[in-house]
Amino acid sequence: MDSVIEFLKAEQARGNSHVYLDEEARAGLRELFLRSRNPLAAPVVEPVKQSAPATTTPAEAVVSGESKAAKLQGLREQAERWAPALSLGSLREKLVFAVGNPDADIMLVGEAPGYNEEKEGEPFVGPAGQKLNDILKAMGVKREDVYISNLVKFRPAMPKQTTNNRKPSPREMAACLPLVMAEISVVQPKIIITLGGTAAEGLLGLEGTVGSMRGKWHDLSGIPTRVTYHPSYLLQSGSNEVKRSLWEDMLAAMEKLGMPISEKQKAYFLPRA
Ligand code: URA
Repeated sequence: MDSVIEFLKAEQARGNSHVYLDEEARAGLRELFLRSRNPLAAPVVEPVKQSAPATTTPAEAVVSGESKAAKLQGLREQAERWAPALSLGSLREKLVFAVGNPDADIMLVGEAPGYNEEKEGEPFVGPAGQKLNDILKAMGVKREDVYISNLVKFRPAMPKQTTNNRKPSPREMAACLPLVMAEISVVQPKIIITLGGTAAEGLLGLEGTVGSMRGKWHDLSGIPTRVTYHPSYLLQSGSNEVKRSLWEDMLAAMEKLGMPISEKQKAYFLPRA
């Protein structure tokens, strides 16, 4: 149990607000829980459900249409029936595609929709979305001016799911990757910001903590890409250090885009002298 707690703490420190547990891991945790309540009980042996095979080469998303808006609409329609993801059987079926300006300079990519996003059919509309709106406002940018998407286009499913969400699995991310890469090729933003470690892992193939991935520019299909903390991590941690780190990533993004930066903006979340 101690090592489970250690693992969860490490995930939280990496900026992940939820973790994916496959059927085997869930069975293991159930057993630990039951044994902690009755140490003499015999181990519970539950059948492990066979999960879907890993997607090998995901299908190509086809980009066609005249304008960027038409191309994105074409991608949205393909995503609606995206077999590589839907055939896994581990994602819910309602599509949450993307929102924003097809001509945006800034593209933000999160991991996957949660309860609120599935309900509204739009990425980042729950508490994490409110926090993202605040961040954009502090930068002097309107939500309508940027393009907001997720790596995974369907809410990851859980047994007896109500409002609870989980992080997408590597297999779910791989299945949806061609869609988001096609969106990037259409929007051609000047910069990309990945929100949280999961999106950075899936898009950039990075490993480690968000702390080790952030603070520098990466390259994603020739587009300068910044990794930063997920807004929900900001909500959870409440730490000024995390707020300042995220803000420094945003300042770097503003600088890259040649946006004006006021002295007041430069000083946000700096420790008081
Ligand atoms: N978290 C994400 O990564 N994406 C959303 O759309 C909402 C929360």
